[in-house]
Amino acid sequence: MQPMVLKLSASGLPDCWLNLQEAVTEMTADRVLYSFGSICHRLYGGINRHGERSFLDVPQILVGRGVRCSKSGVPALSNRTLFARDRHICMYCGQRFPTSQLSRDHVIPTSRGGKDEWTNVVTACRRCNHHKAAHLLDECGMELVAVPYTPNRHEYLYLSNHRILHDQMNYLQQGFRHFRA
Ligand SMILES: [Zn+2]
Repeated sequence: MQPMVLKLSASGLPDCWLNLQEAVTEMTADRVLYSFGSICHRLYGGINRHGERSFLDVPQILVGRGVRCSKSGVPALSNRTLFARDRHICMYCGQRFPTSQLSRDHVIPTSRGGKDEWTNVVTACRRCNHHKAAHLLDECGMELVAVPYTPNRHEYLYLSNHRILHDQMNYLQQGFRHFRA
């Protein structure tokens, strides 16, 4: 997979990841205020009448004007980012598992009023999830390895991309609240 381009909002806050095509669209439609970081792609175009081949350099980070792709507020919860937040570790037994053996567990079960939100969900292996079932923690004598939290925008974008480039990482790290990368 090609590395993605990090898009910031006009106010300089992290917004979303763009694939190469989306980034090029932003640039050619004049929706980029400025860019920074080193170049992550060079796209070649046609040859002009002086015999020179045109090209477009796509930066690692660009600042968009106008419409943001993300709604402000809480980042969307998905199993992929949830498991990444918990580093693929079951929050009950503390062991690491492959994605196929992990599940989303609601600390306060939904059947008992618990919400499907970042602060009420943890990564759990199948065995622990099965054991916990629809119990509250003190009913089944289970404990959490770590307290679930809502990632901020910097952390969320870090968690949702496997292949982050150097300048993008430097930028995102400045906003980490809950962990060090
Ligand atoms: Zn477990």
